[in-house]
Amino acid sequence: MTRVHNLGFPRIGHKRELKKALESFWSGEIDGMELEARAAQLRERHWRIQQTCGVELIPVGDFSLYDQMLDMSCTLGAVPPRYGFDGKEVDLATFFAMARGSSSQPAMEMTKWFDTNYHYIVPEFHEGMDFALRSERLFRQVREAQGLGLAPKPVIVGPITYLWLGKEKDLAAEAVHAPQHHHDDSACCGHGGSSAPAGFDRLSLLPKLLPVYGEILARLRELGVEWVQMDEPALTQDLPGEWLEALDRAYAELGKSAAPKILLATYFESVADHAQRLMALPVAGLHLDLRRAAQQRDAFLQHYPSDKILSLGVVDGRNVWRTDLDAALALVEPAAKSLGDRLWLAPSCSLMHSPVDLEQETELDDELKSWLAFAVQKLDELAMLARALDHGMEAVQGPWESARAAVASRRSSQRIHNAAVAARLDALGSDEGHRKNPYPVRAKAQRERFHLPLFPTTTIGSFPQTPEIRKARLQHRKGELSDADYRKAMEAEIAHVVREQERLDIDVLVHGEPERNDMVEYFGEQLAGFAFTRHGWVQSYGSRYVKPPLIFGDVSRPRAMTVDWARYAQSLSSRPMKGMLTGPVTILQWSFVRDDQPRERTALQIALAIRDEVKDLIDAGIGIIQIDEPAYREGLPLKRKDWDHYLGWASRAFRISAQVAPDDVQIHTHMCYSEFNDILPAIAAMDADVITIETSRSQMELLDAFAHFQYPNEIGPGVYDIHSPRVPTEAEMVHLLEKAERVVPAERLWVNPDCGLKTRKWPEVTPALEHMVAAAKAMRRRH
Ligand code: GLN
Ligand code: ZN
Repeated sequence: MTRVHNLGFPRIGHKRELKKALESFWSGEIDGMELEARAAQLRERHWRIQQTCGVELIPVGDFSLYDQMLDMSCTLGAVPPRYGFDGKEVDLATFFAMARGSSSQPAMEMTKWFDTNYHYIVPEFHEGMDFALRSERLFRQVREAQGLGLAPKPVIVGPITYLWLGKEKDLAAEAVHAPQHHHDDSACCGHGGSSAPAGFDRLSLLPKLLPVYGEILARLRELGVEWVQMDEPALTQDLPGEWLEALDRAYAELGKSAAPKILLATYFESVADHAQRLMALPVAGLHLDLRRAAQQRDAFLQHYPSDKILSLGVVDGRNVWRTDLDAALALVEPAAKSLGDRLWLAPSCSLMHSPVDLEQETELDDELKSWLAFAVQKLDELAMLARALDHGMEAVQGPWESARAAVASRRSSQRIHNAAVAARLDALGSDEGHRKNPYPVRAKAQRERFHLPLFPTTTIGSFPQTPEIRKARLQHRKGELSDADYRKAMEAEIAHVVREQERLDIDVLVHGEPERNDMVEYFGEQLAGFAFTRHGWVQSYGSRYVKPPLIFGDVSRPRAMTVDWARYAQSLSSRPMKGMLTGPVTILQWSFVRDDQPRERTALQIALAIRDEVKDLIDAGIGIIQIDEPAYREGLPLKRKDWDHYLGWASRAFRISAQVAPDDVQIHTHMCYSEFNDILPAIAAMDADVITIETSRSQMELLDAFAHFQYPNEIGPGVYDIHSPRVPTEAEMVHLLEKAERVVPAERLWVNPDCGLKTRKWPEVTPALEHMVAAAKAMRRRH
């Protein structure tokens, strides 16, 4: 019999119950007992659903109140000293202080979990630190599941991945240099501040870490646990040789202890390069992601050890499409032949990256709905595959047929395929999307057109999203505010933002983006080929969930999306008004993307739609256009060997969208993070006339890389951190600009905040921008 198991289930709840419980707890409405009770209810519901779907080994420990890596840090007693914890068990107060900061201490850093949009809390390591079992959470949940008559399979992050994803910290430097950054209100992706190298290697902590893992495993065995899942997704990245050797040592040691059977789980990419090594480990089974990397199957199947089970991930845990069951069956059949009962089936990775339950989507049309599968449906698909393997096609006939019909209808649907879009893509041929003339020629034309001063000032696009703006948008959505009244309200807001900027004497203005709920959704709603769910939430971090649009078909732009607002804003001022668009890579990256064509093709379709908008903005007299690409870096593949290919099409998609701009139209782009070093050539290849970036938190250090690389075009290094309510002084910003001027010639420097201002309040924004403009003027006077 083929066993179906699951790597993890979404924890957020059908109705986002976990978010509500957490927020009630944080606001003091409910106490810790009540929070735990609600969490237990959710766990039980999720376990029952999985049981009903035919999952035999139920994942336990995948449920976290905030983040599974943070849970692991607590279990291992890796609580940074600044939280003053020295108890036997990490309590909720300490746990949430680490996650979100407290009145006296900033939160721990957060960063993206591999190439997903999920953020984990980065473990902090310091030299000579000790580990000790400091949480009973996992064991309690195991007993909880057993109490319900279930067979739990605890899930923990393996020691190699745990260390790999953490960061060395210098405790002495920490005291002087406490990070300022609160991430709960971050508008975008900017995380991962630079930290001074701490002068030791975190891998050296492994010998101290392993005994605690040994203790965890022994405890689980005492509880009667048969299988434990140890997640080692780090193996899909380019691990250095000493890390791979450490893997051997670690599992050799853990294999010796009185442990349950270990299933070592990898996901998100291929581990074929390590096939021999993994098959030789003293573990009882391996899990492979065949959705991301089907070709790795054969590297394992040929000589798979006879004492191990093999779990194959054939249902996509990262996307929303219904599985092509025939293709999945073909993929697992050879394994079933050679492994028999030792073959297990699973989703490719934890289902936490997928929305919970399609059944809740009552507003999607039937056809589109028939193409989708969320977490619950994915488990049904696995059960069906197992049944087909075990009992033949007769056992699954009806449901299999309808699944097959749905997949076929998606393949041929007119809603997906638009001949005009295809023709347009074909017509592009190998056009690389370069503008007519190189930057120096364009810069001259732009100087003649705009006559901007040295150190021109601008902002990144959004201004505070006040409660009134949100309310108007909501009322309009509900039909309580007419189109005309909504337009009036937004125009009033735009007029206010324009007046303020003129009063502040900013050189290049923006309209403030009051009409945008979200920088991707706003465009997705107006583009063909996109759909939206009502409940398709996935966790982004902590209690923050996102509802990505679905790109299901060829993308095109039926009509202008931003031109009226831009034209109105420009009519209010004689200063240049920046048109504001979201770039193709970011729209792609923050959506569920179709899996029936390469991502790059979808990116190019979006690029052409954005290009249409660029063209219309230009025709409406807009001379400066910003195409935001905050997700440009996060699209990077997990393996370096794939980077060039990605960066090639990503930069081309950006260029294609900007290509129609004549010399005297200035194209800006914006990215809000501070890790550029390894992709600077690809940033330069975008060939934006101006790029604005986040630099204030790294105190302009980041600019050194740009200077060293001799980045050729204009740069606006952010001079103040918009993630903090703090108003920086003029002197601070002058100081940063002086630093900037030492590495980038003044003629190519702009002055702007780190990112958009939408999460800030006016009383913070106004003085900060006053100081910013004063700083720019002070710099000008010196020239
Ligand atoms: N133009 C957007 C804004 O100002 C950019 C947001 C972002 O970089 N994530 O809000
Ligand atoms: Zn930004």
